Amino acid sequence: MTAKVSEQDARDVAEAAREKDWKRPSFAKELFLGRFDLDLIHPHPTQDAEEAAGSATFLARLREYCAGLDGTVIEREARIPDEYVKGLADLGCFGIKIPTEYGGLGMSAVTYNRALMLAGSVHPSIGALLSAHQSIGVPEPLKQFGTPEQKRAFLPRCAAGAVSAFLLTEPDVGSDPARLACTATPDEDGSYVLDGVKLWTTNGVVAELLVVMARVPKSATTKGGITAFVVEADAPGITVERRNGFMGLRGIENGVTRLHRVRVPAANRIGRDGEGLKIALSTLNTGRLSIPALCTAAGKWALKISREWSAERVQWGRPVGEHAAVASKISFIAATTYAMEAVLDLSAHLADAARNDIRIEAALAKLWASEMAWTVADELIQIRGGRGYETAESLAARGERAVAAEQLLRDLRINRIFEGSTEIMHLLVAREAVDAHLSAAGALADPKAATSAKAKAAAKASGFYAKWLPTLVTGKGQLPRSYGDFGPLATHLRYLERASRKLARSTFYGMTRWQAGLERRQGFLGRVVDIGAELFAMAASCVRARMLGEAAAYELAGTFCAQSRVRVERLFDALWDNTDDADSTLAKGVLAGRYTFVEEGVLDPSEGTGPWIAPWRPGESAEDNLARRYVPSTRD
Ligand SMILES: Cc1cc2nc3c(=O)[nH]c(=O)nc-3n(C[C@H](O)[C@H](O)[C@H](O)COP(=O)(O)OP(=O)(O)OC[C@H]3O[C@@H](n4cnc5c(N)ncnc54)[C@H](O)[C@@H]3O)c2cc1C
Repeated sequence: MTAKVSEQDARDVAEAAREKDWKRPSFAKELFLGRFDLDLIHPHPTQDAEEAAGSATFLARLREYCAGLDGTVIEREARIPDEYVKGLADLGCFGIKIPTEYGGLGMSAVTYNRALMLAGSVHPSIGALLSAHQSIGVPEPLKQFGTPEQKRAFLPRCAAGAVSAFLLTEPDVGSDPARLACTATPDEDGSYVLDGVKLWTTNGVVAELLVVMARVPKSATTKGGITAFVVEADAPGITVERRNGFMGLRGIENGVTRLHRVRVPAANRIGRDGEGLKIALSTLNTGRLSIPALCTAAGKWALKISREWSAERVQWGRPVGEHAAVASKISFIAATTYAMEAVLDLSAHLADAARNDIRIEAALAKLWASEMAWTVADELIQIRGGRGYETAESLAARGERAVAAEQLLRDLRINRIFEGSTEIMHLLVAREAVDAHLSAAGALADPKAATSAKAKAAAKASGFYAKWLPTLVTGKGQLPRSYGDFGPLATHLRYLERASRKLARSTFYGMTRWQAGLERRQGFLGRVVDIGAELFAMAASCVRARMLGEAAAYELAGTFCAQSRVRVERLFDALWDNTDDADSTLAKGVLAGRYTFVEEGVLDPSEGTGPWIAPWRPGESAEDNLARRYVPSTRD
């Protein structure tokens, strides 16, 4: 169904959706340019007293309510009981960030993240329900881009518990929205008619409102393009054809939704024709923090379990936590969890204070936390030994504590895939990290540019680099007493300053070595981004310790920085010493079938069970509609 879309088309669509302006400073952007500007994040911002008091009251009520919920019911029945959702709606959990004038709680991103952590610790499916609704569903794009009429019409409903969902993905569209096939055809009466099939719609089965991304065809009156609409989920022509099942998040109501001649009034379009992806990306600037919030929650629980269990379980004459191999895992879980919270809280506070632009920080937080939390959960399972692999239900049946460590791993895995996979986050952040080079180098970095244009660009670039490169040679990190007010952490801040310059120099070398080819060096770019993520986490950890002012926080930050530095040094080495070229060649051989002999000796039970991607056709649904609602309709 999708027209042929080239790699260049995909890049062009991504580039057009990219926000290019920087109205506020960005700590992470500067970090990639070799400017470690600690003043942008230190002193750590704090909540104002009024917000803090309101937040504490709300979180205490939420905690009390959540303590009465049973996550094992969700896991067993693969759905969140309706009364849980009603209870959360009564507490205002569907409108935490919606302004009070529209019936929401009007709270900050910091409070929202803390609420997600609490609710998500009952069962991560509750976290996914709330975040798919508030981070990517109807409330956030409308808050940022909606007209006053749209806000009045939809935000009070969202705050009251009208669950919403975000529908971008299609059978043929995952990481590449250029392939989007769902159409929104303008009709003579001014409305749009939507047609298409949407896949993996979190909340889609139970949603009352949808944000649908559809392509408006180009015409004499519109330049068209991917456009965002608010759609009533019970509009004629909408059928929820499936509810999907996954490795984890067993309680999420994730569906396949067919749209057949669904009429949507023009008043429900968010922004203008063609602005849909830009709106989605802007929404995600802070919306992305919900994943680090749920990852931090996972880390906190993993730490508690590993502490309690490792002190109790005795093998080879000692509690297992006293064996060095297990102790290093406990230290990793503790330090990483502290750092995940540091990254999350700092980014959210910066977003609330509207002091900084945090689009890179939030992307780094999502990327880094989803990867680290996965390792944390894996290490927890190892510490728990055989009991780590056993289900909570089975443990309980044997009379033991129902610790759902294997579930944690299953539930966390998706975080590395959705809301921008790790690979796509690498590309997204790398684009910003090398932006200064791209602007300076211009045609030099453009594979399509003519030789004469390249020569001109080279002259321009040398002007930029003549000014910039000398700034990367020396800095505060080389002065033995700098950052002294950070006490034992000063040594790490000096390292950060030096590493930031080294990172910028390395990016520059990459640029000169590969020029236009740099964009294809995903191994190199991914490592540059990973180094940036570690440096940001170290900086956030130090600044948080300083704010907390407690010895224990300094210890956690110190050990985290030491661990992180080991990873950073490995990444720096791997920038130039790696198997990237050999891997590309080998992978080509694999795809060409050169090594199929290695696959011999096993069966593939999936063979013959269906195509890789199910074909679909627009048109009326022949399936039963599986849509259902948690709460009574909020429509007048
Ligand atoms: C449980 C669940 C919930 C979801 N919820 C929603 C939702 O609410 N709304 C919604 O719209 N979507 C949702 N999704 C879809 C999700 O966002 C996509 O799965 C994700 O964007 C990745 O797309 P894909 O799965 O098609 O992978 P693909 O795009 O097919 O990618 C396959 C692999 O290739 C990599 N890759 C792709 N392109 C590149 C590239 N250019 N360079 C390097 N590597 C690349 C990917 O990282 C991945 O590893 C959900 C998915 C799941 C499983």
